[in-house]
Amino acid sequence: MRRSITLGAVVAVGVLSVGVNGFQQLDPDAVDAAVIEQVRDNLYVITGSSTVDRSLFSGGNVGVFVMEDGVAIVDTKLPGWGPVILERIRSVTDKPVVTIVNTHTHGDHVGSNEFFDAARIVAHENTKANMERMDNFQGGNARFLPAATYSDRMSLGSGDDRIDLYHFGAGHTDGDTFIVYPALGVLQTGDMFPWRDAPFLDTSNGGSGLAMPETLAAAIAGIEGVDVVVPGHIPVTTWESFQEFQRYNADLLDAVRTAKGAGLSEDDAASGVSLASGYPHYDSTRVEAAIRVIYNELP
Ligand SMILES: [Zn+2]
Repeated sequence: MRRSITLGAVVAVGVLSVGVNGFQQLDPDAVDAAVIEQVRDNLYVITGSSTVDRSLFSGGNVGVFVMEDGVAIVDTKLPGWGPVILERIRSVTDKPVVTIVNTHTHGDHVGSNEFFDAARIVAHENTKANMERMDNFQGGNARFLPAATYSDRMSLGSGDDRIDLYHFGAGHTDGDTFIVYPALGVLQTGDMFPWRDAPFLDTSNGGSGLAMPETLAAAIAGIEGVDVVVPGHIPVTTWESFQEFQRYNADLLDAVRTAKGAGLSEDDAASGVSLASGYPHYDSTRVEAAIRVIYNELP
């Protein structure tokens, strides 16, 4: 029922800070920070936020692809963000949300699936398995799990509305999807390219710092015709920036392998390994955690 709320009703709820849809429980500054921006033609992004600055945290970037017969969205932010996502979509189209692609299992990317209860949900088969273990999808909420899955590659729609889904192996988790909008030359990476910093390597969901560089290299080799990239959490950027993130991950793995090979302890590697000189515009907030994961994965 909730998805039938009209734009007017959602705006009124937002203004009055009362209502039944959870809108009023969100931080107004975080709501203001989640704006819709045109990426190219009929593709938009509802901006995400950093996982470090929790004050404005709404979850990851949401792709909004306006097709002939409806809207496909990629990821659904944290729980409770459905009304904001729908309001932002309503500022560019009246068409219904018919498809959700979840890039991976994390709650800041699948959290508001349930708000779009008429949409068909699609994800990699490992992501569905990971989601089945989440509290969000137990009991009756199991109906907001992916209805369709794939293993290596899947296409949705046709012509200008085609969306290509690719899985190239483990990295952030073991079920990450790369989404290509081929008519537009745009790639959406989810958290396989979340930010300019070390990745979060979620080994509890099959993630791997050993696999990350080669999985990213496989994506770079296997995807053609893209020049614009929608990352997981930061603003829209370029294919070259995505290639740089692959090099960063390869260099990080090399550096940790060298440190461990030289006999450094985990703690010494975590404090001593730095890529700052080669990547001065990268953050280093998440480097230590990534080094520890890689160190323990290495033989
Ligand atoms: Zn994630």
